[in-house]
Amino acid sequence: MKEITDGVFIETEYLGCNIGCVVTEKGPVLIDAPTLPHEVSDLRNELRRLSPLDIAYLVYTHGHFDHLIGGAHLTGRTIAHRGAADEIAYLKENLPAEVSRYVPDIYQQYKEAFDNAEIALPQVVFDRELKLCMGDRTLVLFYAGGHSADSLAVYLPEERVLFVGDNVVSGMPLVTPNSLFGEWIDFLHRVEVMEVDIIVPGHGPVCGMETVTNTRLYFAAMRDRVSSLIGAGATREEVVSETGLTACLPVPTEETVRQQVASTVAAMYEQVMKGMLSV
Ligand SMILES: [Zn+2]
Repeated sequence: MKEITDGVFIETEYLGCNIGCVVTEKGPVLIDAPTLPHEVSDLRNELRRLSPLDIAYLVYTHGHFDHLIGGAHLTGRTIAHRGAADEIAYLKENLPAEVSRYVPDIYQQYKEAFDNAEIALPQVVFDRELKLCMGDRTLVLFYAGGHSADSLAVYLPEERVLFVGDNVVSGMPLVTPNSLFGEWIDFLHRVEVMEVDIIVPGHGPVCGMETVTNTRLYFAAMRDRVSSLIGAGATREEVVSETGLTACLPVPTEETVRQQVASTVAAMYEQVMKGMLSV
């Protein structure tokens, strides 16, 4: 794991999401779990190097499977947003089917790992905010929403670090399977005025506030474009084909990105049409 500031570590090289570790005098607090068995072993070895204590808590940033698998092999002391509990319980019973539905190639490649994976259900859930007072450190978990209705963020006010889950990713396209864009834009706005120096995204290298701003501008520009096309009478297909990449998109313009953007635009179209997203 790489130390990003005193006692705060991240691992960005595993198959699934980024893993965070905040070393406290009451034990390490983990943020999200690795996917593959050898990654769980690797993480355990790293944790032994960082602290003599057992894992104090494992915080799930949200209930998507790439953030949870392997949790049961780490600790039962798990925390999530209330909205994630049902999602995680569902995945516990249906993981292979869900993984093969979203990422069939990866499922085939690691079939045995997914078929035998164990997921720990959340032991503690909260709605708005939960503060972990860990002696020498404080972690503030708060509801974020946006990327998913069960997304949370983890704020370390003294260290000025914010773990944002998949509401920000760096170096890859944003994934928006069940996202609420109005809430997402609002969350990014709130983050921009927080006292934060280091943003830990759900995937990709650590970044700064400019990536948060770029992500907000990207969605806001898309929202404005989708709204004005709808206002001009465009159909769903026209909106999707005519809402191109904007200058603020913080990722390369490759075909995979184009497809991801098209599905994001289609989802945003639905939300503008339902009056869920005002300009
Ligand atoms: Zn996600």
